[in-house]
Amino acid sequence: MILLHCPYCGPRGHEEFTYAGDATKRRPEIGAPVDAAAWHDYLHLRDNPRGPHRELWHHVQGCRAYIEVLRDTYNHEVLACGLPGDPLVAEEA
Ligand SMILES: [Zn+2]
Repeated sequence: MILLHCPYCGPRGHEEFTYAGDATKRRPEIGAPVDAAAWHDYLHLRDNPRGPHRELWHHVQGCRAYIEVLRDTYNHEVLACGLPGDPLVAEEA
């Protein structure tokens, strides 16, 4: 079980969450001119890193907030959690 620290609910098992994607991708500004290559990159291209990776998780069986998680994809260790856009809070070992 992966333990994710929801800023509103506290530590919860990952079963309460749904993976919501790569947190490193930023949507192009609404209304700004965007070429097809930039949309293709935003919608479809993802890295597959081995090691720390920023992810979005949705607390669907809790407060329904989206949280940002820094997780090591090699050993599933959660390194930090927080609200998207806020500084992440490191997990205690
Ligand atoms: Zn929550």
